[in-house]
Amino acid sequence: MSTDDSKGPHVDASGLGGSAETGTHNATAEAGLVRAAEGFAIKVLAQDGLARRARISTPHGEIETPTFMPVATFGAVRGISNEELAGAGAQILLSNTYHLHERPGEETIEALGGLHGFTGWSGPWLTDSGGFQGTSLSDRAKIEEEGVTFTSPVDGRRRSLTPEGAIHIQEALGSDIAMVLDECIPIAEGASDGDDTAGGRTETRELERAMQRTLRWAEGSRKARRRKDQAVFAIVQGGASEDLRRQSAEATCQLDFDGYAHGGLGLGESRDERRAAVTVANQVLPADRPRYLMGLGRPIDLLDGIAAGVDLFDCVVPTRNGRHGLLFTSQGVLRVRNAIYQRDDNPIDPECACPACRNHSRGYLRHLIHSGESLGSRLTALHNLTYYLNLLTRAQRAIEAGTFEALHAEIEEIAERRA
Ligand SMILES: [Zn+2]
Repeated sequence: MSTDDSKGPHVDASGLGGSAETGTHNATAEAGLVRAAEGFAIKVLAQDGLARRARISTPHGEIETPTFMPVATFGAVRGISNEELAGAGAQILLSNTYHLHERPGEETIEALGGLHGFTGWSGPWLTDSGGFQGTSLSDRAKIEEEGVTFTSPVDGRRRSLTPEGAIHIQEALGSDIAMVLDECIPIAEGASDGDDTAGGRTETRELERAMQRTLRWAEGSRKARRRKDQAVFAIVQGGASEDLRRQSAEATCQLDFDGYAHGGLGLGESRDERRAAVTVANQVLPADRPRYLMGLGRPIDLLDGIAAGVDLFDCVVPTRNGRHGLLFTSQGVLRVRNAIYQRDDNPIDPECACPACRNHSRGYLRHLIHSGESLGSRLTALHNLTYYLNLLTRAQRAIEAGTFEALHAEIEEIAERRA
C-alpha cells in the first residue's frame, strides 16, 4: 500500500545546532511512514499576546520569525539576484511547483542538485503544491476526488496532479518545506465562476465539502512522503466560517504534520473575518509547529497575522507592486510614477538603506519606470522587499520587547496613507 521506502521511527531534531529545546517532534512512528522531518524544529523565543517570535531550524539553515518569504516563481525573484535578496534580509524563498514542473521539469532540477544547487540559493526553500496555479491559470481545470486536471498553457496538453504526485514532485525539487495539495475555493462571488455562490458568498456546504476533501488529500500526501529531510505542511481551509476553520484545524492536527498553513484567505473575506479565521485555527494548532499564512498580503495583513500568532508569510504584492512603482514606505504608500516626483531628489524612503534609497532619487526612479528601463522596476521591487523584511524584523524586536501592539497600531495608521 505504502510507496514509502524509509522504514522505522524518525530521529528528532534535538541535536540540530543545540537550539531545539522546545518544539521538536515526538518520535511517534507509524510503520512505514515518514511522520516528521529530520533536522526540522521550531523554538519559540518570545511571546507578546498571541504574537510570537521564533526560530525555525531546517537542513539548510535557521529562519528567524516572523518573516516574509519572497516569491521566486520560476526559481528566481524576478530581476533580483540571490545576493540582493540576502542583502535585503531574505532568509527563505518560495517557489511555485507548478511552474517548475512545467519548465524545466523536476527531473532536470533534481539532476542539477535540487532547488538549492539549481538556483544557487543555499538557504531554505518552500514550495507550494502546484494545485492553486494549475487550476487558476487553466481555463479548463477540473477538480475531482483523485486530484486536479488542467490544460498546460505551455504545450496545451492535459496534466493531472494528485495529492501523492504533488509531494513526489516537491521531493524531486528538494525544497525544505513542501505543501500538501488542497482544494481552495473563493469565499466571495466574483472571484470564481460564481455557480456555487448564493447571495454573493460561497455556500457553507460547498466550503465544508472542499475542506473535507482537503483533509482526505492531506492524508494521502502524508502517506506518500518518502524524504526524511523535507518538512510537509498541511493546510487549514474553511472559508470565512470560524466553525469550519476550527473543525479543519482540529482534524488536520490529528494527521500530525511538521507545520500548518492557513489557506483560502484573501479571496473575498473582510479583514475582520480573516483575522477571526486565523485566530480560531491558531487556538487549535499546536504551539510547537510553524504556522504559515498563505499568499497575504499588504503590510497590515502581515501585522494582523502576526498578532494572531502566524510565523511565515508570502505574497507577490511587494515585488509586483514595486515593479509598477507602488511603493511601501515608513510614511505610507508612495506612487513614484506620479508627476509630483518628477523633480524630487529625495530617496523613496529616507529611513530605508536599500540600494534604491541609498543611491537614487524619486525623480530618477520615476524616469526609469516611465522609460521602461528594467533597472527602475528592479530597484523599486527590491525596495519593497526590503521594506517588508525590515518590517518583520521590527516585529521580531517588538515581540521581544513586549511592544508589538504599538507597532501594529503604527502600521495600521500609515497602511493606506499617502506618503
Ligand atoms: Zn529602499
